[in-house]
Amino acid sequence: MVCMSPHHGAHDRTAHIVEAERICAAAGETLTPLRQRVLELLIDQPGPAKAYDLLPLIDADKQSKPPTVYRALDFLVRMGLAHRIESLNAFVACDIGACARSTIFLICEKCGAAEEFDAGHALVDLSEAASRDGFSIRRTMIEASGLCAACQRAA
Ligand SMILES: [Zn+2]
Ligand SMILES: [Zn+2]
Repeated sequence: MVCMSPHHGAHDRTAHIVEAERICAAAGETLTPLRQRVLELLIDQPGPAKAYDLLPLIDADKQSKPPTVYRALDFLVRMGLAHRIESLNAFVACDIGACARSTIFLICEKCGAAEEFDAGHALVDLSEAASRDGFSIRRTMIEASGLCAACQRAA
């Protein structure tokens, strides 16, 4: 169940934030106003966003210094509410819900679109194969690069 639309409506965003608050509360954490603001900005981005792209979008109050924003992003990643795409050094709001453990991103080399791909069974197989090898996987983050459907059609 991959959300095919990167553009969430206002109602979707409200539901997303309510769910995020629930996930934080369940983990004994708090979605502070700054953490919520950073998550809202990520939800509103059409694609992966770099931390310094978010900075000017956060209210001009003096509390929004870069380290504060980085800490908020780290928190969202730790909660599974956002993902850090290493190859792009960018962040995206989680599309599926909270996958604190494992996820796969399909990243288009041409247009930069990053689609969160729910390949549950592939990751279960990987986990089982690793455990047969004596390794217990805690978290998997796979970044697959290639061409998205739209860019293949345009080629
Ligand atoms: Zn996710
Ligand atoms: Zn593309």
